[in-house]
Amino acid sequence: MRLDRFLSETTDLTRGLARRVLTAGEVTVNGEVERKGARHVNEKDVVCWRDETLALVGLRYVMLHKPTGVECTARRGLYPRVVDLLDLPHAERLQPVGRLDVDTSGLLLLTDDGQWSHRVTSPRHRCAKVYHARLARTLEGIEAENAIERFAEGILLDGDDIPTRPAELECLGEKEVRLTIHEGRYHQVRRMLAAVGNHVEALHRESIGQLALDPDLAPGQWRELSAREVALFY
Ligand code: URA
Repeated sequence: MRLDRFLSETTDLTRGLARRVLTAGEVTVNGEVERKGARHVNEKDVVCWRDETLALVGLRYVMLHKPTGVECTARRGLYPRVVDLLDLPHAERLQPVGRLDVDTSGLLLLTDDGQWSHRVTSPRHRCAKVYHARLARTLEGIEAENAIERFAEGILLDGDDIPTRPAELECLGEKEVRLTIHEGRYHQVRRMLAAVGNHVEALHRESIGQLALDPDLAPGQWRELSAREVALFY
């Protein structure tokens, strides 16, 4: 890889600024000052800038306990972004794997591995997503049975052309349910519960496939996935 590109991939420098720090003699390769951006470096070369040894990072996979009030978007807007919670170099290169609404909390995966992300989100892979919801109205008796049956069959949501895939609803308390879905449509859980006359007051994602939110992570905390966890989706 060219040295100017290596610098822009391993620091916050743009390609232009990388060339400037090179011209200024701030960069060494194997202990020697190097001023040429076109110089090729490989993994055996030791590149230093301002007393820091720079290294390329491989693909990254992160589990975040998303708090409410934070957005899964790349653009800066009304709310803080999930990537702003990651104290990692070049955190903005990580993309959320699917989205959670601003007022949904729980398990959010982020990665720069597009293929892996596709495997997790593609409906073809039918990866189960489990949500815990607190409802505005009680859901019990015949009403609960009706909702369980309709979700299991698939329900046509307002504005959609095809019914949802079969989903499993479990009633945990008068106003508390666990819903497992196998796709990821826009506001899907809220819309499904609205379709049976209820309203979601709080929503939390517990797991995706075999991967559950790490109970050691408080809202806003994150950790990298282990190789075993990454492999769960391959
Ligand atoms: N379904 C929703 O309605 N919201 C989410 O954030 C995730 C699933």
